[in-house]
Amino acid sequence: AENAEYLISKIRTIPGFPKEGILFRDFMPVLADARAFGVLLDALEAALPVDPNDFDAVAGLEARGFLFGPALAARLGKGFIAVRKAGKLPPETVSQHYDLEYGQAAVEIETSAVHEGERVLIVDDLIATGGTANAASALIEKCGGKVSGFSFVMELTGIDGMKSLQGYPASSLITMP
Ligand code: IMP
Repeated sequence: AENAEYLISKIRTIPGFPKEGILFRDFMPVLADARAFGVLLDALEAALPVDPNDFDAVAGLEARGFLFGPALAARLGKGFIAVRKAGKLPPETVSQHYDLEYGQAAVEIETSAVHEGERVLIVDDLIATGGTANAASALIEKCGGKVSGFSFVMELTGIDGMKSLQGYPASSLITMP
């Protein structure tokens, strides 16, 4: 409990960023602090939604999923798959479009980054609507992978993002508005 409080104390909240009405949760201070970073990785490992023997690789979402996803993957003895925002990767890539509140976005992966039948755990810092996580999941399955589950640091309340994951095993460490 003391560790959990310590971790939470390192999440910075910025009202009105990136636009008015948004309460932005900033995880950078967690990574900057050795104890908090260790607590975060311990907690993610303890809360894994599936047994580590039941997935082969960890996929992280750009950008904040790139910060602790590889650290978690290394701890678990797994490789890391980078799910990038559109337009950053050389060919060949596979894309998945998804809807934002206003407009559309896309995530991409290198075609060869996922092996046929590979079982993948998807990690990100935060789930709000679940749009990003679902797009990553569709992308991995388009490439022949199998999604084993999702690990998030934080889940926003009152949006039902976790319910949008259609029965896939999922865990989050912290719930906040
Ligand atoms: P969703 O697609 O609506 O679930 O939004 C989740 C995506 O937006 C994740 O990739 C998050 O990194 C990002 N995101 C949304 N709100 C925040 C926030 O308050 N802090 C950090 N990332 C956020």
